Amino acid sequence: MSEQHYNFFESVEKSFDKAAKFTGWDKGLLEQIKACNSIYSMRFPVKMDDGRIEVIEAYRVQHSQHKSPCKGGIRFSDEVNQEEVMALAALMTYKCAIVNVPFGGGKGGIKINPRKYSAYELEKITRRYTSELVKKNFIGPGIDVPAPDYGTGEREMAWIVDTYASLKPGEIDAAGCVTGKPVSQGGVRGRKEATGLGVFFGIREVCNMEDVMAKLGLKTGVEGKKVVVQGLGNVGYHSAKFFREHGATVVAIAEYEGAIYKEDGINEEELFQHRKQTGSILNFPGAKNLAKNTDALELACDILIPAALENVINGENAGKVQAKIIGEAANGPLTPEADEILAKKGVLVVPDMYLNAGGVTVSYFEWLKNLSHVRYGRMEKRFTENMNTHILAQIEDLSGKKVTDAERKFILHGPEEVDLVHSGLEETMITATREIMEIWKANPSIPDMRTAAYVCAINKVGTSYGELGIFP
Ligand code: GLU
Repeated sequence: MSEQHYNFFESVEKSFDKAAKFTGWDKGLLEQIKACNSIYSMRFPVKMDDGRIEVIEAYRVQHSQHKSPCKGGIRFSDEVNQEEVMALAALMTYKCAIVNVPFGGGKGGIKINPRKYSAYELEKITRRYTSELVKKNFIGPGIDVPAPDYGTGEREMAWIVDTYASLKPGEIDAAGCVTGKPVSQGGVRGRKEATGLGVFFGIREVCNMEDVMAKLGLKTGVEGKKVVVQGLGNVGYHSAKFFREHGATVVAIAEYEGAIYKEDGINEEELFQHRKQTGSILNFPGAKNLAKNTDALELACDILIPAALENVINGENAGKVQAKIIGEAANGPLTPEADEILAKKGVLVVPDMYLNAGGVTVSYFEWLKNLSHVRYGRMEKRFTENMNTHILAQIEDLSGKKVTDAERKFILHGPEEVDLVHSGLEETMITATREIMEIWKANPSIPDMRTAAYVCAINKVGTSYGELGIFP
């Protein structure tokens, strides 16, 4: 089978069309949901440390404004191109709809390899990009709110909010112009691990479904499952961490320099430190090096988590995948050919569009925090603790028994910001998983979970267009 007949955006369109058949929406409305509303392609000059001027290619795409603001990350990568940013923006629209986050989809990209630039050069590029967005009204807490993505993180978000705020003096909600900020700059606790934790919550929910597990020939629950993770960036690292902490065994991890295998499990933090010291994940004590990083994708395991870039599982290698469940932590790691091959093999593909929605879900919480100008938990933590102390004292008095110290600590604890964020995320991921599975069960001719997720998204976006009265 020849690979890549279509670019990433066309792949997304293909998946959309496959799902649209299972919905009853008007053809024109489906066209509108699918289309990218606004595309800003820009070029700007930046003076590098050696005095050279480089022309930077960058994009911001607003796929849908059926809800405001638009939302989605900014990636720094050599591979950035307009179609890719369009595809990623479209995925954001569907993702937000599925997890009931009231945003339209957006995405940004700067075509650079961040490893090749100094911190100062990156700061200049990021600040200039932000001011270009301001000039064209493509950023703002009520317009379009970027966030981290591949190659960007808290540091870049801090530059963005600082640039935006300095260009918009007196804008009281300026902090809400971007999410994924450091906590000291208006970020929310729990954002950093959010995508990885969301991946874990989503897969755990799937693994807790008896009928789904029975079909795959697996025992229910995450405990004891063999997991392979591709990518040790923020998403891969945290996915590995939560699976390990909940009793799964992370037998292999891959990065662009190679892959390692360790039957009794890899501790992601130890591997992270090893990589920091040696510059590579290879030669990790007790682990076997694999010849190619892509070999990790073909290992025998229960759960495979691609957490790096798109198209890594394609027509060429999908037939060799041995995992029973693929959890798409990255955006678009499977091509449509791979989808078809894997569906035939009976592999359950848990789709990116909702599985990696933890990031944007917690971004929503961060944005709400910025607009409300108050930290989560500030108003109720002490009140809850006082109330719990009182209730527990009454129970102990009436029963004449005392709970253990550990129990006391647990019962009295009032919610901190991070507790509320994690619990909001858990609720979101469980609800979304169940909604998608319900749609799939209600219509057995839907071929896979991705199509069911698209049906869910199309119905929600379609309904809100209907509510806007655009299509009477
Ligand atoms: N870049 C992440 C994603 O693809 C997060 C987006 C956001 O928080 O707005 O979902």
